[in-house]
Amino acid sequence: MHRDIAPGITQIATTRRDNAFLIAGDDGFTLVDVGWASAPATLLTAVADLGRKLSDIRRVVLTHAHPDHVQGAAELRDLTGAQILIHPADHPWLKAGRVPREGRSGSVGRLLDRLPKLRWTPFTADATVTDGDPIDDSDGLRVIHTPGHTPGHIALLHEPTHTALLGDAVFHRGSLTLGPAALAAAPALRPAALTALPPDLRTIAFAHGSPLTGARAEDFHLFLERLQRNSGDARSQR
Ligand SMILES: [Zn+2]
Ligand SMILES: [Zn+2]
Repeated sequence: MHRDIAPGITQIATTRRDNAFLIAGDDGFTLVDVGWASAPATLLTAVADLGRKLSDIRRVVLTHAHPDHVQGAAELRDLTGAQILIHPADHPWLKAGRVPREGRSGSVGRLLDRLPKLRWTPFTADATVTDGDPIDDSDGLRVIHTPGHTPGHIALLHEPTHTALLGDAVFHRGSLTLGPAALAAAPALRPAALTALPPDLRTIAFAHGSPLTGARAEDFHLFLERLQRNSGDARSQR
């Protein structure tokens, strides 16, 4: 299942709960996130539906090193020859093939990481990207570092269409939330990290949940305002 959410941006459901994104550039596609081990096969079908071939995926940007985003990445690189990019703070996790103990603030998260199905084949990225970096000359993407969910979590801003691909910085399953604190590395950092997003976003897309487009983009701006107000209140009560 895939659909265009803005000019040049296709959202692909790699499972019923997980999304990856294809961004068109001059030399082919940039893929934002991969998904579980089953994702490469789903991505292959979606790219074929678009009349393109898998090797048209030239690079893969990982929003962070959690298994539901990176487990299929090593296989996808074998199939496509794509370059894999990640923030340096999450790169050691990629190379370890698992989330380390300090990667989850709560015991529930640490217990989950002991399950073999939440591991992945360790691999090394081709390059790292940090706040403000463009991904490629032609795909229009820029990195916004949004730490908290993981230390190296990044959002991608598609400047030509004022679209933000938020990864797991915000979840949109039914309602907008920051997600479970126990699964985040440093949950308290999350509200402030989102202030780096530009105020004029027209489309907001999520790794988990449906995108907000058109008039519904306003829902996201109201969510951010509420978040900043609440985190301000929490600070003043300390
Ligand atoms: Zn995550
Ligand atoms: Zn996720």
